[in-house]
Formats: sequence, C-alpha cells, structure tokens
Amino acid sequence: MFEALSERFESAWKSLRGQNKISAANVQEALREVRRALLEADANLQVVKDFVAEVSEKAQGAEVVSGVSPDQQFIKIVYDELVSVMGETNVPLKQVVPGPTVVLMAGLQGTGKTTATAKLALHLRKQERTALLVATDVYRPAAIDQLITLGKQIDVPVFDLGTDANPVEIALQGLEQARADGVDTVIIDTAGRLQIDQAMMGELAQIKDAVQPHEVLLVVDAMTGQEAANLTQTFHEQIGITGAILTKMDGDSRGGAALSVRQISGQPIKFIGVGEKVEALQPFYPERMASRILGMGDVLTLVEKAQEEVDLADAEKLQEKILSAKFDFNDFLKQTRLMKNMGSLAGIMKLIPGMGNKLSSDQLQQGEQQLKRCEAMISSMTLQERQNPELLSGSPSRRRRIARGAGYGEKDVGKLVSDFQRMRTMMQQMGQGNMGMPGMGGGF
Ligand code: GDP
Repeated sequence: MFEALSERFESAWKSLRGQNKISAANVQEALREVRRALLEADANLQVVKDFVAEVSEKAQGAEVVSGVSPDQQFIKIVYDELVSVMGETNVPLKQVVPGPTVVLMAGLQGTGKTTATAKLALHLRKQERTALLVATDVYRPAAIDQLITLGKQIDVPVFDLGTDANPVEIALQGLEQARADGVDTVIIDTAGRLQIDQAMMGELAQIKDAVQPHEVLLVVDAMTGQEAANLTQTFHEQIGITGAILTKMDGDSRGGAALSVRQISGQPIKFIGVGEKVEALQPFYPERMASRILGMGDVLTLVEKAQEEVDLADAEKLQEKILSAKFDFNDFLKQTRLMKNMGSLAGIMKLIPGMGNKLSSDQLQQGEQQLKRCEAMISSMTLQERQNPELLSGSPSRRRRIARGAGYGEKDVGKLVSDFQRMRTMMQQMGQGNMGMPGMGGGF
C-alpha cells in the first residue's frame, strides 16, 4: 500500500538529511519532492498545491529543535499536515436513537459497494448492533443475488423485491421492515454505473429524498487515483455525502485518493476496505494513514491486529513490552506466532517502519526462513536466557551450546542476539515517542 508515495518521500527526506538546519534553500528541494510524490500518487492538483503551501509556511517558520535533525523535523511537519488534511481523528458511523439509523451507499459499479455494504453490517454486528440490508439495484439481478449471498454468509437479513419493483419503493419498504423488526441500522445498497450517469444520480437523489438517510457513504476505489477527486466532487455536489469508504487499500493503491476525498468534500473517510473478504474492513485513522504514506510503518495497527488474536490483557502486556526495553526472546516467540496466526509475513511486514516498501517477494521468503531459524535457536535457549538476552552477549559458551542445539553456527546465534538487541532499542525509541526515521528496519 502506498508504496510509490513512500518511496518518493524517502528522497525528500534524503535531501534534508545531513543538513544541520532547515533553510529556505534546502526546504525548497524537499518540498518539490513532496509535491512530486503527491502528484505521482494521483492526488488532486489543488489538494497538492494547498498541502505544499501549508507545509512550506510551517517548515520555514519552524524553530530548530535541539536534538532533532532537520529531516526529522520536516517529516513531523509533513506528518502533522497530512493528519490534518485527512481529518485528525476517526469519525465513527452515526447511530441515532431511537433507530433505525439509515445508511445510503453510493458509488460507481465495481468499486466494492455491495461488498462494503456487507462488511459494514458485519462490523456493526461485532458491536452488538443489528442491521438490515436493502437491495435496490434492480438493473442487475446478479447484484441482488450477491447481496443475498453475502447476507447469508454473515447472518444478516436482506430485504429485496426482485427486479420488477421501483428502487425508491424498495428502499421505503425496506425501511418500514427495519422499523417493524426493531433493527438499529438499515443499509441501502444502490445501483452503480460504470461512469457517472445522470439517470443514476437522479435515482440516488430520489432515494435520498424518500428515506432521509443519516449517512450517505460514497464508496471510492482507492486504485482510481485522480478519478477519486472528480467522483467525490460530483457526488458531493449532486447528492451530498456524509462520509466515504475507501476500498481496495490492500492493493497497490495510489495514496492520492485518501488525501483528495476529505479535502474536496470536507467529509471524513470512515472506513477502509482491505480485501475481498467480508471481514476486511477497518476504521480509518488519519494518523495511521499518515504514517503509512510516509513509510513510517504502523505499530498501532500491528498491535491492534494482534489484539484480535489474543485476549486483550495479553495483547496490552505485549504492547507495553514492545514499547519498553523489557521485550525478551519469549515475547519475540509469542509475537512471531501471533504473526503466523495473523496471516502472511508480507502483510505484517508492510506495517513495520521502513520495511513495506523495500522488500521483494524473494526477500520476504528469506524473511520467513529467517524467522524459522530464529525460532529454532530460541527453542534451544534456557528459560533464563530467553528472559535475559544480555546473558548471551557476554557468553560464547552459551552461544556455542545454543548453536549446537539448533543445528546452526555460533555466528548465527551471535547475529540473532545482536539483531535482537538492535530491534529492542528501536522499539524503545518508538515507545518514547521518537517517531523514528523512515528506512530504519530492524535486523529481522
Ligand atoms: P460494486 O459493483 O460496487 O457493488 O462492487 P462489488 O462489491 O461487487 O466489488 C467488486 C469487486 O471488488 C469484487 O470482486 C470484490 O471482491 C472486490 N473488492 C471489494 N472490496 C475490496 C477490497 O477492499 N479489496 C479488494 N482487493 N477487493 C475488493
């Protein structure tokens, strides 16, 4: 995700690295790179202009903080501005009491609108909320079937009247049904077209008038780049949206869409779609997205993913340890096992600072093997050694014993110990709020 964007930013940092202060001259070069990076990522031209102007003003007025290098300081300014453009905080889906909360889904065909409808229902179900899905795409019987199938899969009811009924009528009757059943949220899937089309917009406006939704969510395919800006503008002008869902963020997406949607509509991105499965929906967090765009990785998301796999107390302990110097080999083992539960190493690596944009699939395979070697070596350590990695740096005889037990060389064990300590220092720095530098990958 956001690979192209992160790479371009890396060169912006490079132009500042090694300088001892932010000056008008060196900041210009970095700003040019930022501008180019955003344009290449298909962010909207006006969005980019505003963004760069804001960063420029803040960077030139910035006091040089002692102990912080100019590139770090510049990154911080760009980061803060990105967070600001994307809306500062996560804005959850509205919930009105008494219900039902009415959500209207809008967007072009193929963007993932129907999938997002089901994903949203599952998300609500996880929060003990109930939903009714309403199928109004009478032009494509397959779309109605798709929603019915998805509904069955997640055990959420779907209301439809086949393909002969009027979409506005279906929406109204669906809403009645939701009221009768005491459902707290009704999500109305609508017809999409391949391109913006006045008939589609007209119908959407009619449905909106009829059901008076609390939320109108525009589903935007993150892969569409520049198109996202025009799309947002048209839908917002003609229908009025209250938020967006950015889909296909798991692909090789161009980060520009994330920036454009908020800037153009003034409405927040509420969720991101990160895969084809119904579970693949996440709340949108501006800080996390900014970190990803800048290639700083995303420790928070990593920890949150882990939390879904272990019980909360355990995950919190692990998080505390990851961010302190107390992380030991036992925690490392626990974490690698968690990663395996969470899915491929490739997916996880993308969340680690400076890693995502650097690893080829070959390297990732090597990484998986390296993890296996680490596990074998850690398994040959005594409990005491696992808890006190320091014991190993001072003792060749311990390292020899472990190497023999694991079937590797002493050098391998030595490297594991020094890599581990380096990683621990890096994690500790992150824990202290030091944002870290892009490109600093741990030894693993
Ligand atoms: P609609 O025409 O807008 O209703 O789009 P669909 O919901 O039918 O989705 C179109 C295609 O995109 C399907 O193949 C989905 O599986 C896929 N899709 C939807 N959301 C995502 C996502 O977040 N990531 C990925 N990789 N694919 C998605």
